[in-house]
Amino acid sequence: KKRVFNFGDRKADGDAKFRNLLGGKGANLAEMSRIGVPVPPGFTITTEVCTEYNTLGKEETVQLIKEEVLSSVDNIGGIMGAEFGSDENPLLLSVRSGARVSMPGMMDTVLNLGLNDRSVEAVAARTNNERFAWDSYRRFVQMYGGVVMGMKPGSKEEIDPFEAIMEELKEEREIELDTDFTTEDLKLLVQRFKEAIKLKTGNTLPEDPWEQLWGAVMAVFDSWNGDRAVYYRTMHGYPANWGTAVNVQAMVFGNMGENSGTGVCFTRDAGTGENVFNGEYLINAQGEDVVAGVRTPQQITKLGSERWAELARITEEERRNKYPSLEEIMPEIYKELFEYQRMLETHYRNMQDMEFTIQNGKLWILQTRNGKRTGAAMVKIAMDMLKEGLISQQEAILRVDPVKLDELLHPVFDTKAIKKAKVIAQGLPASPGAATGQIVFHSDEVEKFKNAILVRLETSPEDLEGMHLANGILTARGGMTSHAAVVARGMGKCCISGAGALKINYKERTLTIEGREYHEGDWISLNGSTGNIFEGKVATKEPELTGEFADLMKLSDKFRTLRIRTNADTPKDALAARNFGAQGIGLTRTEHMFFEVDRIKAMREMILASTTKGRRRALDVLLPMQRSDFEGIFEAMDGFGVTIRLLDPPLHEFVPHQLTTQKELADDLHISLEAVKTKVAELEEFNPMLGHRGCRLGITYPEITEMQTRAILEAALNVQARGVIARPEIMVPLVGTLKEFTLQKQVIQETAEQVFRERKERISFKIGTMIEVPRAALIADRIATEAEFFSFGTNDLTQMTFGYSRDDAGKFLPIYLKQGILNADPFETIDQKGVGTLMRIGVGRGREVKPSLKIGICGEHGGDPESVEFCNTLGIDYVSCSPFRVPIARIAAAQAAI
Ligand code: PEP
Ligand code: MG
Repeated sequence: KKRVFNFGDRKADGDAKFRNLLGGKGANLAEMSRIGVPVPPGFTITTEVCTEYNTLGKEETVQLIKEEVLSSVDNIGGIMGAEFGSDENPLLLSVRSGARVSMPGMMDTVLNLGLNDRSVEAVAARTNNERFAWDSYRRFVQMYGGVVMGMKPGSKEEIDPFEAIMEELKEEREIELDTDFTTEDLKLLVQRFKEAIKLKTGNTLPEDPWEQLWGAVMAVFDSWNGDRAVYYRTMHGYPANWGTAVNVQAMVFGNMGENSGTGVCFTRDAGTGENVFNGEYLINAQGEDVVAGVRTPQQITKLGSERWAELARITEEERRNKYPSLEEIMPEIYKELFEYQRMLETHYRNMQDMEFTIQNGKLWILQTRNGKRTGAAMVKIAMDMLKEGLISQQEAILRVDPVKLDELLHPVFDTKAIKKAKVIAQGLPASPGAATGQIVFHSDEVEKFKNAILVRLETSPEDLEGMHLANGILTARGGMTSHAAVVARGMGKCCISGAGALKINYKERTLTIEGREYHEGDWISLNGSTGNIFEGKVATKEPELTGEFADLMKLSDKFRTLRIRTNADTPKDALAARNFGAQGIGLTRTEHMFFEVDRIKAMREMILASTTKGRRRALDVLLPMQRSDFEGIFEAMDGFGVTIRLLDPPLHEFVPHQLTTQKELADDLHISLEAVKTKVAELEEFNPMLGHRGCRLGITYPEITEMQTRAILEAALNVQARGVIARPEIMVPLVGTLKEFTLQKQVIQETAEQVFRERKERISFKIGTMIEVPRAALIADRIATEAEFFSFGTNDLTQMTFGYSRDDAGKFLPIYLKQGILNADPFETIDQKGVGTLMRIGVGRGREVKPSLKIGICGEHGGDPESVEFCNTLGIDYVSCSPFRVPIARIAAAQAAI
């Protein structure tokens, strides 16, 4: 079995198709080398070795790959004209992780590997740059110490132990910047670093380059199981057995002097999707310096530089002198880089995120990958590339991650409110969106606030969880490619970076802007699209479906076969959903209408009535209220089917449980408190979800079904008179036997006939049922003889199939997910093996007796892309989901059909 794959010098063992084996980075390095992009030569140790390492351990893994690695290192030396381990002409290597998906900053990297007390002198002599050699050595000891030997800060208050040593020396020397260290200082730092390592870990930094190499390779494998990586993996649902590959490459140096540099660039704007080449670079720096956000990087293009200067309020003169673009200072290199980015984007037919280094005037491309982007950029880039003829319609649809569309469906700032809001500072628009929240300075404290804005000098991978939980992220340092910016864009989270006016004091938990102090818990608002930071809460408004987003939706409608309905309980929600493209209502939960103040009273009166007559009296009060809601919903859904479900929840949900409210109710109804208490106690159930609810209510109290049927049909007739096409579908919940259904159907039909007689006009309507009790799925052939439609209530179906209470599962599901007992929360994504099988049986048996039976799904799963795909394979007619999930379902349905 081949475990090590070479690349370099326009050749490679692998290519882009080997992504699973070589990881994204490795596969792309191989591919780039093949198509003639100048990548530093190297090799990739496969992801399979990572998995082998997890069972074999270090010694045996080294034996397994030793021979291949030896010959590959030789190969690199041959291309670069240097020798690994040589004291005279040393080859230096970088060692990086690379899983099959990019996990920015989640795993470890070691650079400048191969340096030791002897080879550092050789590098100094050969480059005629002693300072560079020792700076590289200093960086190596720091990285190796941290990554391989475990020299990390002990807590969030502590700073990195190596940074602490550097700070100490800066104080001794009375200097401010790293670049102010002399060569002698750097030598002293190396010595102090090594001593600190020995002191803290008890181990000595290895001098032998081969020992260094094996240590680094294994540390990268270990980082796959590190806390950060595990958190990121779990968040995105990537399985542990994917493993990471290790990429070992010849080092190229961006820190060899003024003729060297390093940078990150994107073929299009990752925030907005605009088709402009952009990125950032630093002269005389090494890769990590750009993303770490410590030095403020400069823009690659002149256009970008000008835009940046405008946001940063820097004059054109200052820009040209202090922050010129690469285009201006190295026009030849810029031209070459521009060519490669075009070439790579065209080759991969996707937006690329590239890293490059300029060593002594020679450009090297270190890596390329499909760039992370915001939801808005994702949509724009897909639609632009379609227009440019780069991708097909199907590809454009498949390029969209339905879940990410969610970002476009979140509120934006209200235009009026934003005009009045007070701008307190400005930063870079690192990740668009609107966010309002309370200031929090420490990532692990974000969860204490419902709405938090995480405010940091800069972020590091340790902040990941806090970033995830916060509404928005604000940093004082760092550019558009800083960790905060890249990660925030990936999460689709609003982020402003590099707001230089911010003075943050972590200890005091204060943020000072131009003399004004803000404290933890104070509200601020961020506009990630402009970089503006506002004081206080700024009002937001609902988003709209326009531009490329609307075009994409139209395109997806061309391909999908599933229809998309919505779950809506109010005319307002119904209208919102229709504007998002809903084709009817799959579920109106009528009980939600009863919770409004004036209605709950009548509802309680109905429940407390001891006679049918008393109940009818209360129902008569509720009737007009329901009717008017239904009218609004029919109007919003003019022409489309509207499924309205009869009362479903157990009645005790409607009665008051607090003594004071019970007393009020008793007074209101002129009955004794005792009577109220007795009734409440009577309604108490041990398992209310399995108790007196669903059609069991309608069967015990047919007058409820009568009232609701009357409200639905009278509303339909009323709007019909106004020219609206109403298509009511009355749905019976929680049916488990045929008789339950036929009894309710009879009540509905009799009521309908009476209404039609009274009104002297008719309207056609359907009577169907939910399939949400497992037994209903199993006897679907019997139920279908009477029902005109089915709608899978996968919430209850999941609850009853697993026997997991919907209301209590939160206590143990996280543990089940962590231990791998379940792969996904079955209340979010349909459990295809179990619940899915019942659905398949239900569809099959139902259509056996009634081939034209209309079938949908209205459980929460209707808006989950994976579940939508599954529903597509079942051949049902529609999925129904909450209004803001409708666009997600539309695209998911199109993807399922392609
Ligand atoms: C269901 O059970 O899936 C359903 C849609 O009904 P509810 O969530 O109201 O029980
Ligand atoms: Mg249900």
